Amino acid sequence: MTDRQDVRTTAPRFAQADSAPFEHWIAALRAEARTKGIGENTLAEAFDGLRLNRRALELEARQPEFVTPVGAYVAALTGKQALATGREKRRQHAALLARIEAAYGVPARYLLAIWRLESDYGANFGSFPVVETLATLAYAGTPKRRPFWRRQLIGALEIVDRGHATFARLVGSWAGAMGHTQFIPTTYLDHAVDFDGDGRRDLWRSLPDVFASTANYLRKSGWQSGLPFGWEAALPEGFDYSRAHLGESRTVAEWRALGVRRADGKPLPEIDRPVSLIVPAGWNGPVFLVTQNYRAILRYNNAAAYALTVGLLAERLEGQGDLVARWPAAARLLSRAEKAELQRGLMALGYDPGPVDGKVGPETRKAIRAFQKRAGKPADGYANQALLDAVRKAAHR
Ligand code: CA
Repeated sequence: MTDRQDVRTTAPRFAQADSAPFEHWIAALRAEARTKGIGENTLAEAFDGLRLNRRALELEARQPEFVTPVGAYVAALTGKQALATGREKRRQHAALLARIEAAYGVPARYLLAIWRLESDYGANFGSFPVVETLATLAYAGTPKRRPFWRRQLIGALEIVDRGHATFARLVGSWAGAMGHTQFIPTTYLDHAVDFDGDGRRDLWRSLPDVFASTANYLRKSGWQSGLPFGWEAALPEGFDYSRAHLGESRTVAEWRALGVRRADGKPLPEIDRPVSLIVPAGWNGPVFLVTQNYRAILRYNNAAAYALTVGLLAERLEGQGDLVARWPAAARLLSRAEKAELQRGLMALGYDPGPVDGKVGPETRKAIRAFQKRAGKPADGYANQALLDAVRKAAHR
């Protein structure tokens, strides 16, 4: 961590026009915490002399845009080093991982992949003091997110009050994600487990607790044992891409009847469970059939690039080769401003992309597919530069 004096300052510099003074705010928070049964000693330790953390506010305000194309993200996180370290860790912890798979139905390779993405196999937990950081964000962070930060702060106090960790141990990311697999406090309270039986759920020093907690969270998120996240798929000529999104599920047999195959030529398993088709980089990139387990990974971190990278790394750890299709050589993704322009353009053309918020969600993708269909293009619902150019052109006609 950098010199603490550099990243901290005293409360008044953060006082917001619409906020109570920090001391009053803390007093109200302490009162709320007492109603949740949190003890006086814990509260005193948490709040006496607490300062605000300027760096957490800066990081929240910056809200970096995710502009790395999914293919580049996958490549960056699943390279040789990630595979070599992952296999070494699997060998080191084989017996433990086998016990956890038996108990929770989540295979070692998925736990290792999540571990890699969350903390680089435990190399980097983040070094922010969690209570200080969450108190700062709950008091002076983005107004609409303050209730969320406040819940996390109360959760962090509960963790210490129940004796699972000390405040000194409670370090994590600027957003309060903690330990080897980066649980936020409410996720910790709901899903962390004490697998080594020492009475504490320790996500910082106990790998049995870390792996079991992660497996438990995935299981509670709907993980189905015996299934991978999905398979790379190959589609027939003229396939209707408007079927390719998480809102549409079919059985494997139904997809097969539509001509969908596995890209590597192996047979798809005969499973009678809902499966969706996704095109994470557009129709000219790799496409995937994804199972309920892909959705369980999304519960961990709701980004397609994340869930797909976890899935691909997990299967590569098990020996699966490279993808058959190439990722498109996109230089970058559209910025938020460009996505907003796209939404305004679609609106001007009579489509309904939902609110103009610079985010491409299900409504916007639906509008994109309708635009693509009318233009005679593959209706993959994917927003890229070519699409923006086409919408601009159509809107100025
Ligand atoms: Ca434990």
